Parts: sequence; C-alpha cells; structure tokens
Amino acid sequence: MNDSAVDPLVDVLARIVGSDHVVTDPDVMADYVIDWSRRFTGSARMVVRPASTDEVAAVVRACVQAGAPLHPQGGNTGLVGGSVPSMQHGVAGAPVVLSTRRLQRCDAVDQTAGQVTVGAGVTLANLRRHAADAGWEYGVDLAGRDSATMGGNLATNAGGIRVCCYGMTRAQVTGIEAVMPDGSVISHLAGLDKDNTGYDLTSLLVGSEGTLGVITAARLRLHRPPGVSTLVMIGVANFDEALALVRDAIVPGVRMLAAEMIDDVGMHAIMALDSLPWPLEQPWPYVLLLEVEDGGSGEGLILDDALDVVAAVDPADVRRMWRYREGQGEAFGSLGVTHRLDVSIPFEHLARVADAVRVAFDDRVDVTHVGVFGHLADGNLHIEVIGPAEDDSSADERVLRLVTEVGGSISAEHGVGRQKAPYLGWCRSPAELAAMRAIKNALDPQGLFAPGVIWE
Ligand SMILES: Cc1cc2nc3c(=O)[nH]c(=O)nc-3n(C[C@H](O)[C@H](O)[C@H](O)COP(=O)(O)OP(=O)(O)OC[C@H]3O[C@@H](n4cnc5c(N)ncnc54)[C@H](O)[C@@H]3O)c2cc1C
Repeated sequence: MNDSAVDPLVDVLARIVGSDHVVTDPDVMADYVIDWSRRFTGSARMVVRPASTDEVAAVVRACVQAGAPLHPQGGNTGLVGGSVPSMQHGVAGAPVVLSTRRLQRCDAVDQTAGQVTVGAGVTLANLRRHAADAGWEYGVDLAGRDSATMGGNLATNAGGIRVCCYGMTRAQVTGIEAVMPDGSVISHLAGLDKDNTGYDLTSLLVGSEGTLGVITAARLRLHRPPGVSTLVMIGVANFDEALALVRDAIVPGVRMLAAEMIDDVGMHAIMALDSLPWPLEQPWPYVLLLEVEDGGSGEGLILDDALDVVAAVDPADVRRMWRYREGQGEAFGSLGVTHRLDVSIPFEHLARVADAVRVAFDDRVDVTHVGVFGHLADGNLHIEVIGPAEDDSSADERVLRLVTEVGGSISAEHGVGRQKAPYLGWCRSPAELAAMRAIKNALDPQGLFAPGVIWE
C-alpha cells in the first residue's frame, strides 16, 4: 500500500515527522528495500525518517497502535539481509522502514571521561573523525565506515579490523538510549564505567538487530590514538603459518593493531577491480597483513629473511596496502551475486576449515569463485561463494555445516539477519533459544519489530 489516499498511516506519520520524511514513492523507496550485497530484497509499506528521539517514540507508538510492523534501518550496509524487510509478509503486511539516518546528535567529546555521546544516524566515519579531531580514537573500524551508522554498528555489535586491540562494539559502549517496542524511551547515557544495577539493557540491545527496539543514541568509550605503525604483507602457505607469525614474530611489548588474511582468489579479485599489481615476489595461496605499533621503525617484528615480505610505513603506502584487504567486499561483489558467510572458528581448526572451504564446491558447476579472507586474530573467516542464485541457500548451508562441525559460530560479527535465521539452532541450544525467545516475546509481544530477522 503506497498511496496516502488509502493508507491513513501516511498522514499519521507525516504529522510527526513532516510529509517530506514519509516516503511512499517506489523509486525513492527502492534503495531502502535492497541490501548492499544486492542479494536480499523486499518491500515496504513506506519509509519514515524521524529526526529526534521524541519523533522515533511517536512513530513507534503510532505504528504499534495501528498494528504495523516496523523495520529499523541505518546505513543499509549490513551483510545478512537484516537491514531490509523481506518480500514475505504475515497478516500485518509490509513493514514501515524506520530510517535512523537523521538522528545526527554529536556531542562534544568529554575529555575527562574519554567518552562521547552520538545519535544513531552518525556514520562510523564521522564519529571516527569527530573523535580524532578531539585527540581520540574510536575502537571500531570497518570498510563500510562511510555509510554504516552507529545505530547499525550497535544493533549488529560490529567487529572489524581493530577487534584484536579494542574488542567489538559492545566493549565500546557505556550507555544507550532506545525506543522500546511499547514506545517508551530508555535513556542511560551518564557514561558510568561502573554501574551494577540489575540487568544490563545496554548489552542486551547491542546485537539485537532491530528486533527489540530502535537505538537512538549511545555513549561511547574512546581510546588514546595508537602511535605510528608498521604494516607488512607476508605470503604464507596456510592459516597455521600465519597464526605462528602472529604468535612469534611480534617483539614483546609491541602492540598488534591488526592481523588480516586474504586468499589468492580475493587478491586477484581486488587486483582486477582496481588494476593493482601482485605485491609480493612469489605467488602464495594466502597473504597475511600484520600491523604493529612500533613507531614505524619496522623493529616491532622479527621476520625470517626467507619470508616473502613487503612493508609500508608511509601513510600513503599503508593506505595502498590496506586497499587489498578493505576492497574484498567490493571485489567479490563485482564478480556476481555473492553468498557471504561470516563465521568464527576455534583457532586449532582455522587452517583446516579455510582450506576445506576453498575446495568445498569443486563438484558444483554453478559456483564460479570461492574466496576466503578475514580477521585472523579473531578466528573470523569471511567466505564468499559466487554463482548460486540469490535464493539458493544450499551453498550457505554447506559452509555453515563445516563451521558447526568444529564448534564454530555461524555468525562472527555480521549478525543473524534473515540469512542465518533458519540456522540459529545449529549453534545455540534449545535452552538458549527459549531464553532469547522469552525476551523477544516479553518486549515485543506483537512481533512487530524487524520481522524475519534473527527469528524466522
Ligand atoms: C564494505 C563493507 C565492509 C564491512 N566490514 C565489516 C566488518 O569488518 N565487520 C563488521 O562487523 N561488519 C562489517 N560490515 C557490515 C556492516 O557494515 C555492519 O553490520 C554495520 O554495523 C551495519 O551498520 P548499518 O548502519 O549499515 O546498519 P543496517 O545495515 O542498516 O542494519 C543492520 C541491522 O541493524 C538494525 N538496525 C540498524 N540501525 C538500527 C537502530 N538504530 N536501532 C535498532 N536496530 C538498528 C537493522 O534492522 C538491521 O537488522 C561491512 C559492510 C560493508 C558494506
């Protein structure tokens, strides 16, 4: 239903946010109902763009009163289909997409606490710039930074390339403000490092993927920025060799800033996309990117002369070298519709699973490429399978089986979304699922928030 003449909710929401911010034009809505990977599409009743917490609360109350499902959306960079409503709707019909991008609160950095409060619509890149301008570093960084919002980062508990230093998004949050499914507002933004008063609702909302309410703002912990670093790229035969380098090559006392892997399929994909050269002397099945905080001296790493290594210290060279890793998502996307699997593997099985995945589709003529990259220091693989149709989940299932057989997790950092909702029981026990379901039912008894996300 897109016509305001027949949908009374359009007028109700327009009175809250202004008619310019209730979108029913299918051409304008198109970008809100297809995800970044272009694998997941859906349809929406309308898109509503509130600009304040009060407006979000009023929108939520109006939708709940009308029995209308709501789908929170930030930058729409999520990679598990959770950012867009699905095509299949229950009796309640297509959801209203609630875009949080206009929630642009950005407080001055609290220099004493080393914290900042920002609105859910602030992009990760803008938060990082804001913190840097005040002499601080925000602990999460990822390649989707220019579009991904802080609300989305919180809702997915985003990880990224600095988890080995600072932890995931949950570790950066000291408080949250959110509109709950009944339209009430919880605001816990005092920034207390210590606050043991009952259940930790902040932690509960982080990673809830829009299913328990709308995050409108957060109080975030900042860090002193790291010193000058050295970045090296090293050719390796397998993940075990890379893990041994991470364990043994870093001089004691020197901080590791990142340890990332790219396989040769991903290397060739980004080289083709950006016309980049092969950066090492010899071909290797995998490349390790290792960054350490050593003042740029190169003395933070003890590397055997026999290794095939290239180093960067100059910021432009560092950026160029990072591009091989940061461009992986785009590079695989340029090859076709990508089945993206983001998984966690116990370290002792990492090398075997990575190698196994690379040959797991040798029997399938429809699979044109299989690539593996990811965050080595966190045991987090990103596996890309190109070729199968968007709705063919057999490739996803084959990878997830390999992962769960060794006690891994079907989602390391991207969340469950719609992609992995059918498989949640593969790595969560019936008791865990029942406890999670009880929380969902208690907070959102009508099941109006982000239908299809986490829960099928
Ligand atoms: C190139 C690229 C690289 C990436 N690299 C990484 C990476 O290294 N690590 C990583 O973890 N992720 C990565 N991602 C995935 C993505 O950027 C993150 O999941 C990000 O946190 C999503 O933010 P978003 O604002 O785009 O959220 P969206 O995609 O809009 O939404 C994601 C989920 O959060 C919910 N949501 C969004 N905003 C709110 C809100 N305010 N309140 C409640 N729920 C909300 C949505 O309903 C949805 O379920 C990458 C993506 C891209 C495109």
